[in-house]
Amino acid sequence: MQKTILHIDLDTFYVSVERLNNRYLQNKPLLVGGTGDRGVVAACSYETRGFGVHSGMPMKMAKELCPEAFVIRGNSGEYSKHSDIVTEIIKEEVPLFEKSSIDEFYADLTGMDRFFGSYKFSGELRKRIIKETGLPISFGLSANKVVSKVATNEAKPNNHLKVDEGFEKSFLAPLSVKKIPMVGDKTYQILRNLGLRQVRTVQEMPIHVMQRVLGKNGGIIWKRSNGIDNTPVIPFCERKSISTERTFTRDTIDVVKLKGILIAMTENLAYQLRRGEKLTACINVKIRYSDFNTYSKQLRIPYTSADHILIPKVLELFRTLYNRRLLVRLIGVRFSHLVTGNYQIDLFEDTEETLNLYNAMDTIRKRYGDKSVLRAAGMDAKTIGRMNNPFDGRPPVVLAHRKQ
Ligand SMILES: [Mg+2]
Repeated sequence: MQKTILHIDLDTFYVSVERLNNRYLQNKPLLVGGTGDRGVVAACSYETRGFGVHSGMPMKMAKELCPEAFVIRGNSGEYSKHSDIVTEIIKEEVPLFEKSSIDEFYADLTGMDRFFGSYKFSGELRKRIIKETGLPISFGLSANKVVSKVATNEAKPNNHLKVDEGFEKSFLAPLSVKKIPMVGDKTYQILRNLGLRQVRTVQEMPIHVMQRVLGKNGGIIWKRSNGIDNTPVIPFCERKSISTERTFTRDTIDVVKLKGILIAMTENLAYQLRRGEKLTACINVKIRYSDFNTYSKQLRIPYTSADHILIPKVLELFRTLYNRRLLVRLIGVRFSHLVTGNYQIDLFEDTEETLNLYNAMDTIRKRYGDKSVLRAAGMDAKTIGRMNNPFDGRPPVVLAHRKQ
């Protein structure tokens, strides 16, 4: 059956929220991000783009390129709040939607109405969001997620675009290959070196050539370039906490081992947070002794998903908690008070090196599995980890023969 997929995306989200709170910043060049010496640009207004500024670049470089820009340190709580308001509106209007990031949504409007009806509906939804939040937002409508996302990006800022059924290929043809989702800087360079600048050129190539040069990704890029995409909209579900615990087959008093397990647990949970674009503001550590008495302690912290902040706090809680000289039967870690947010938001004062380190570790984990990169201190705790993403709305995968 022909599908109707809506992609909806808030324009320069952090910038727009800052402007909502300070009208003076309207139409002025604005940079949001780390204001420290080695901070990174998390978002930049359209006014700065002509100067070559883009998100992810060092703040220092952005300031040199655009010295007249206002620089603001981001506020993750404020962004989460506005993101929630938009989510609530969409939830009221659309039965099936996916929240793919703090400021981006997909909705499956298939069968909701005839195609023209869906377009009208999308326009009204957009108007309602603008009216109730004051935030500019754009949308794209087409038969699949990829084409709709590209359409949104073409429509921006503060506009909308519909790609009619059967016109996906011709809509994409004149665009730069850079516009295809998943074509990053590196892939773009490879494609350029092959003489592939326009989507049209990719469309005209046989798929196996792309596969030979870029492997599996080459095939996906070819399909996307041809407007082919069958990925489903994954229903959004709010998750308020994430936790892991372990019961020992033999009770233990080995503190080094216990700490190693706690580190591995924290590292894994923090990765789950980052993968789901979540931040936590509350840590809870639980301990059960061999006499079955259970104790737990929690600590409120500023929003984060960074291992190097969470691990010392977890160990600190464990130190204050573990005060009986008894064998331990179970330990567990829980993160709660979760909000949606990219961890870069929380590391506004962090350096480019730290961000690159986390990105590199998580890229390796995405490709080779959760346990492909570990802290040495947690290496003995081999069975920590889960294979599924707890935030994508899918039911958890039950691991058979999972050793406790
Ligand atoms: Mg956006």
